[in-house]
Amino acid sequence: MTTPFTSSVIYLDYCATTPTDIRVLEAMLPYFARDFGNAASQHHFGRIAGEAVELARSQVSGLLKCLPSDVVWTSGATESNNLAIKGVARSVEIPRPHLITQATEHKAVLDPFSSLHNEGFEVTVLDVDSRGRIEPENVRRAIRPNTVLVSVMTANNETGTIFPIKEIARVCEESGVVFHTDASQAVGKIPFDVGNGNIDLASLSGHKLYAPKGIGALIVRKSKKLRRLNPLIDGGGHERGMRSGTLNVPAIVGFGKACEIVAKELFLERPRVEALRNNFEALLMVRLSDVRINGDTSHRLPNVSNLAFLGIDAEGLMIALDRVAASTGSACTASLLEPSHVLRAMNLPEEQQFASARFSFGRQTTVGEVEEAVDEIVRTVNTLRNLSSTSVAQSSP
Ligand SMILES: *Cc1c(COP(=O)(O)O)cnc(C)c1O
Repeated sequence: MTTPFTSSVIYLDYCATTPTDIRVLEAMLPYFARDFGNAASQHHFGRIAGEAVELARSQVSGLLKCLPSDVVWTSGATESNNLAIKGVARSVEIPRPHLITQATEHKAVLDPFSSLHNEGFEVTVLDVDSRGRIEPENVRRAIRPNTVLVSVMTANNETGTIFPIKEIARVCEESGVVFHTDASQAVGKIPFDVGNGNIDLASLSGHKLYAPKGIGALIVRKSKKLRRLNPLIDGGGHERGMRSGTLNVPAIVGFGKACEIVAKELFLERPRVEALRNNFEALLMVRLSDVRINGDTSHRLPNVSNLAFLGIDAEGLMIALDRVAASTGSACTASLLEPSHVLRAMNLPEEQQFASARFSFGRQTTVGEVEEAVDEIVRTVNTLRNLSSTSVAQSSP
């Protein structure tokens, strides 16, 4: 793999963001200056930009197994989630519509739900089990006559837990309820498409799959259930009126290229990254005691390892690890000194929540980096554990 930039710090935070793939970057470059046209213009320059956007649309739809016209460009998964959730809720014409989601969703889903709750919508947030999963039956039981939307992520960004979304989508289909999934962590890590399922809406993020930040898509599949989606942004009527604003052509071109790469290479990349992750966990388990894996190890993304190092504070571990970049919680909430809402929702013992950190692997991670990271983590965890046991000894009478 082409690694144009190197660093002395080992990057194990691919769930927070990925570097732009050099092939993606190269595909984008002509569209900044030479082919700079506005994709909506009718002349020569507009046509070149417009054709590039339509090629990208077909690259995304090829991976997702939908129609090119189902792809709505957005600024990222945060916007896609807001558009899907608020767009459905605000377009239905029944009194007090009811919406369902689950507790470990990204804030970009939970916060739109709480906004809608404040606007007067009925909201159910389903509890997860200790592995962070819900069962399709939980959804079925929560559906009411006035339920209009269910939103359940494809895979969790902190633990990698994969949800049974095919089955949940089927439950929704049987009840005539629109189903949305935040697939931003799943696309590019595991096979994901909307082809034969009953998924009406899916959110994607460019920077989670080696395209730049600030570009994403919402897949909107037309059906009898989903006739209209109220836009968040009104204006020139771009994207079939669902998302006005001049298209970000270079970023869209990059997003398309990134999806094309995933379509071609996932079958190789997935087992490679999974082997790295499994080796990482196996090495740590051999060399350290009291390490727990958070999440559902039988339904888990191949690239995520959320580990509890019992007896230490993971926030301190992250600071002490000079040469490994990983994170506690999600990047968006990691600045808050409280355990992640995901681990809390899983009802893990409080000590385990505070001792947990996420390591995530990706396209540029090497076997050597994993071994170096393990060495550094083992050394640091042992140091921190020794420190805390001496301080406990000193403070006891
Ligand atoms: C990163 C992420 C988002 C936010 O995506 P942006 O493109 O950064 O807005 C939403 N949901 C999940 C699950 C994510 O991992």
